[in-house]
Amino acid sequence: MYDANYLAARLRNASVGADDSPFLRNHQTGEVVTYGQFFANAEKMAAVLTAAGLTPGDRVAVQAPKTQAMLELYVGTVMAGGVFLPLNTAYTATELEYFLGDATPRVLVCDPARQDSLAPIARACGVSEILTIASDETGSLTDRRDAQSPGFPPVPRAADDLAAILYTSGTTGRSKGAMLTHAALASNSQTLKEYWQFTRDDVLIHALPIFHTHGLFVATNITLMAGASCIFMAGFDADAILGYMPQATALMGVPTFYVRLLEADGLAEAAQNMRLFVSGSAPLLSETHETWRAVTGHAILERYGMTETNMNTSNPYDGDRRAGTVGFPLPGVELKVTDPDTGKTLPQGDIGVIEVRGPNVFAGYWQMPEKTAEELREDGFFITGDLGKIDEDGYVHIVGRGKDLIITGGYNVYPKEVELLVDDLPGVTESAVIGVAHPDFGEAVVAVVVPDKGADVTAGQISDGVSGDLARFKQPKHVVIVDALPRNTMGKVQKNVLRDTYAGLFT
Ligand code: AMP
Repeated sequence: MYDANYLAARLRNASVGADDSPFLRNHQTGEVVTYGQFFANAEKMAAVLTAAGLTPGDRVAVQAPKTQAMLELYVGTVMAGGVFLPLNTAYTATELEYFLGDATPRVLVCDPARQDSLAPIARACGVSEILTIASDETGSLTDRRDAQSPGFPPVPRAADDLAAILYTSGTTGRSKGAMLTHAALASNSQTLKEYWQFTRDDVLIHALPIFHTHGLFVATNITLMAGASCIFMAGFDADAILGYMPQATALMGVPTFYVRLLEADGLAEAAQNMRLFVSGSAPLLSETHETWRAVTGHAILERYGMTETNMNTSNPYDGDRRAGTVGFPLPGVELKVTDPDTGKTLPQGDIGVIEVRGPNVFAGYWQMPEKTAEELREDGFFITGDLGKIDEDGYVHIVGRGKDLIITGGYNVYPKEVELLVDDLPGVTESAVIGVAHPDFGEAVVAVVVPDKGADVTAGQISDGVSGDLARFKQPKHVVIVDALPRNTMGKVQKNVLRDTYAGLFT
């Protein structure tokens, strides 16, 4: 029955004939939802959207707490032929005004607590229906869902039709809406399911947000496509995750999950029966990788992806998972490192801009043909903006975002090189190295350093500690000691915030 809808058919395939198998265990309520129940609810969601006037290609914007109903809405939107557009729950009303104005969705789904403040903005942007879901799954959307019958026949959609738009985090300028097709989402999840060997027997601990590619597509689509099940948590909770590990097989997390789990009691015993720990969305410190291996016996599998491309590379499932690397290009994905000025492919080992091509790559930025043309080459390669290299064994290393590159006195400094040395000094937990405007050098290298708890580390010790290993121009001109680095909800260090904070250091 789902065959006509490209993505819906692929999400449903593994569970056909297995309606009684568990899909999701709701951490909040303890309730277990079967595949049959989940897809029946998704069909009802599709019926609600269609009754609300949704036509194929219309956007459904969602800013709501992470709930099972939101997952049903995602699959229901796809079935109804719509384009799912999840928004970070941290965005303010002013930020939402930009997204709604840009994407002009037909339907907005929000937390009931925000309905009154968002309604005038949404109406002004042409939204015709505002529906709600609260963190306890109550709201006008779930009420309407429950008044519908299952059996909605998915609207025909082809491989190239849009299934979702995800906005980039926009640290360099305006957020851009990455247009993701049915085929891009389906093919990437299929590849990852096979590469990471997910089967029906897997139980994934799902604690990532579902407004982002990691939790929404990687975690959810893989579970569905494998006919596996997940333990669905509204957010990260170290003790609860440790409690679930003995009944689970896999965890997908951002690096901060692993740092925090290492601080909790009982990790070694809890992790014994797990088969896979995946990390991504931000760099995993080598130290975390090594400590995790020492404590649990498991090597965390680090992968690299982004909103525009889904996942590009992964450390091997069978084979050496190397700390500080993001592994190899996934099957079907081509990856090259190019010269930022000429676009020519660089020799193996040289640092340059990472470009990728494959069925995973997005179709362009929503209503931004010029931005699309700047970043997506005609031959299909996407210029990721990440700087990296391919080492002699073929492993890909990310050394930072292009915009994070520091140019001081005409010399390039890759922050990662300095950060790795600083992080290795005694008493240092982590660091972020940024470029700050400097009257003589254009930019100067500044190290922002987080000491280990209780460690008495001084700026002078950091400067002395790295001076023997780094060319003069790479050495920090200033060291700041702080308690913590600013991070976004996906655990990424916000270097733009640090650059703003320390902008006036030398002027
Ligand atoms: P987003 O679009 O929010 O998923 O952010 C994508 C960006 O996160 C990439 O372009 C990288 O800069 C960064 N990123 C993702 N995974 C990794 C990783 N494993 N190591 C280093 N950076 C990563």
